[in-house]
Amino acid sequence: VVSPAFESPLSETVCTHCGQCVAVCPVGALTENDHTWKVVEALADPDKFVVVQTAPAVRVAIGEEFGKEPGSVVTGQMVTALRSLGFDRVFDTDFAADLTIMEEGTELLGRLNRFLAGDKDVPLPILTSCCPAWVNFIESQFPELIDIPSSAKSPQQMFGAVAKSFLAEKMNIPREKMVVVSVMPCLAKKYEAARDEFKVDGNPDVDISISTRELAHLIKRANLNLLELEESEFDNPLGESTGAAVIFGSTGGVIEAATRTAYEIHTGKTLEKVDFEDIRGFDGVRVASVQMDDFTLNIGIAHGLGNARKLLEEVESGNPRNLHAIEIMACPGGCIGGGGQPYHHGNSDILKKRMAAIYEVDKNMPLRKSHENPSITALYEQYLGEPMSELSHKLLHTHYSVKDKV
Ligand code: SF4
Repeated sequence: VVSPAFESPLSETVCTHCGQCVAVCPVGALTENDHTWKVVEALADPDKFVVVQTAPAVRVAIGEEFGKEPGSVVTGQMVTALRSLGFDRVFDTDFAADLTIMEEGTELLGRLNRFLAGDKDVPLPILTSCCPAWVNFIESQFPELIDIPSSAKSPQQMFGAVAKSFLAEKMNIPREKMVVVSVMPCLAKKYEAARDEFKVDGNPDVDISISTRELAHLIKRANLNLLELEESEFDNPLGESTGAAVIFGSTGGVIEAATRTAYEIHTGKTLEKVDFEDIRGFDGVRVASVQMDDFTLNIGIAHGLGNARKLLEEVESGNPRNLHAIEIMACPGGCIGGGGQPYHHGNSDILKKRMAAIYEVDKNMPLRKSHENPSITALYEQYLGEPMSELSHKLLHTHYSVKDKV
């Protein structure tokens, strides 16, 4: 459908962080690193088996590039477009978001149990780690807090690690023949995919990361109109997900998803109301408490790195609000406002519509808790064993390094 010659690697990298500089530059002087040519090359190579994953926030924004109202959900058409472009399998990062909750939620409960048993040295509050711009920020700005983020990899990287191990083995495809492409709302994900921690013998778990805008560009260059396409479903087994995964796209979503699972595992009870309204919203710093039987879980949320700094300085000064878990996202509104999304020019109405769409998708999902995802259960039964097992650690966890302040 697309010619490998249509694009060339001409544009320059200017941003390896949240990409907001690219998204808000008033004179268009900043450009992102365009990797669509790499995708075209991979798709044109008959020796490669090319799989793609799409992040939660992409589906509620890419329609804007084709004239749809902000907050239009075009998941099914996007899947069809990706198949038409020639990908061998079309999977969902949401699957890996559910997997992230299994690992991160288990890690959170492990630390809490040690804390409740009297271990005062346990590293709390645990910090979410799925935003690479935020990880980069703590590595360079708060080296003394480097031990407290969760060691769980981001969903993008968990997906790549599982695709190039479990899936590759299942399909009998050598690792070096599989190409994993990710479609992200984010420019920092390109930098994350290239980090040495996420390579095996020099071969990256995620080979190419493109933004929502780059995917829209690819679709247009292939003469496809997203809005005229029939809807279709993700492939399996890495395409099944729950509502908890889709809310990763919004500020507060990761910690809400983790709370749904942590509550049920800790209390042994079924959560009657899965919507934690107190966690949601647009305030830059938010705090909420969740009663978990014998214990009150205190949660902090920040979006935007200025707000993250405020919350981290509070933690450094002794954590006066006794927070146990903190979610931080670098972009306004979380990934719905990511630097790789269709430009929103600071219009908060656009972000609110995308956020409302995220919660609507969650509400309409038949399963809304990550630990209920049958494909995740099967992955543990057939391959990983259990969350935080030796193999889970090897494939799904990472470490952080202190960097020079910039
Ligand atoms: Fe990327 Fe989301 Fe972090 Fe923004 S908030 S830098 S889009 S991961």
